[in-house]
Amino acid sequence: MEITSSVEYDISATPTLNVCNLHPEKLNKKIYKLFYDDLNRDRKKDMTIFFHNLETVKLKRVPENHGITYSTAAQYNIDENIIEILKIDKFYDSIDHELLHLASCIVDKNGNIFSGFSQRRGDALVGLGLDEGYTALLDDRYFLHRTERKEKNNHLIYPFVKTLARRVEEFVGTEEMEDFYFTADLLSIVKILSYYTSLDETIEFLKNMDYILLNYEQAQFSNIFLVFKKYSECMLFIVEAWVYRIAEGYINGQMNNKEYLNLLKMARHILSYRISIGLLKPVNIDKYFPKIEKKVAKKLELKYRGEIKKIQLVDVV
Ligand SMILES: [Zn+2]
Repeated sequence: MEITSSVEYDISATPTLNVCNLHPEKLNKKIYKLFYDDLNRDRKKDMTIFFHNLETVKLKRVPENHGITYSTAAQYNIDENIIEILKIDKFYDSIDHELLHLASCIVDKNGNIFSGFSQRRGDALVGLGLDEGYTALLDDRYFLHRTERKEKNNHLIYPFVKTLARRVEEFVGTEEMEDFYFTADLLSIVKILSYYTSLDETIEFLKNMDYILLNYEQAQFSNIFLVFKKYSECMLFIVEAWVYRIAEGYINGQMNNKEYLNLLKMARHILSYRISIGLLKPVNIDKYFPKIEKKVAKKLELKYRGEIKKIQLVDVV
């Protein structure tokens, strides 16, 4: 069965937490202390949500057939604030990933869930793909040394959405993206991406990531070609955002011609990226890149209405 995320979804601002007491004494438990120390080793993060949820979190062993269907050995049950652990022998492979969810998840008084970069209101859901991808990325960044198995196998966890989340982070900035994650602030990401593309295209991008996660990375829906099409659309979206930013910087005099061309080359390079799954072919750059350039040039010409020097459309190779 094909799973799609909600078509109509208004991204909301993150609710503020009523209780913001920090509970460092909770760090007496070794798993929480390890998580906290590794996550904050280079730069302090906003840990308000983490301490808030830590107040009531439960760790629970669950039987094999409990519904944790994919390869992870644990899951974070947001509604009840429970970390369910399937296989105790894999505990340290999975616990940090679940604690990242715990550290980025707010439930508002109406039961709406803001978890990292995803939002859920009743059955309506958006941003799950970006959220899981970025959670996996942070798990790699801070906790890969935890176990040998993790070091060896983590690249297999959510490779598509993780790659796309990394592309978004490159665009938004590492510190900003991390800060948005730990305050469950999807709206800020949407605002940034929308400025360089459009709101509709940004929502479409998030939905495409949801599709990839729900139909391929968490399930085995077999239409790999549709998944690849969505993946390519996501890449094209990110490249378009880059081209817009670079071209606008150029027409506003923030770079010279040479820098402009070099940056365009960099944007083009993103399109050539492919992850190592045999069936996938890279996006046809020669076909798509000039289309993106033309689309962006048109938008900028409309926006600046001849006040600025004309954008130079060049064949960047
Ligand atoms: Zn997860």
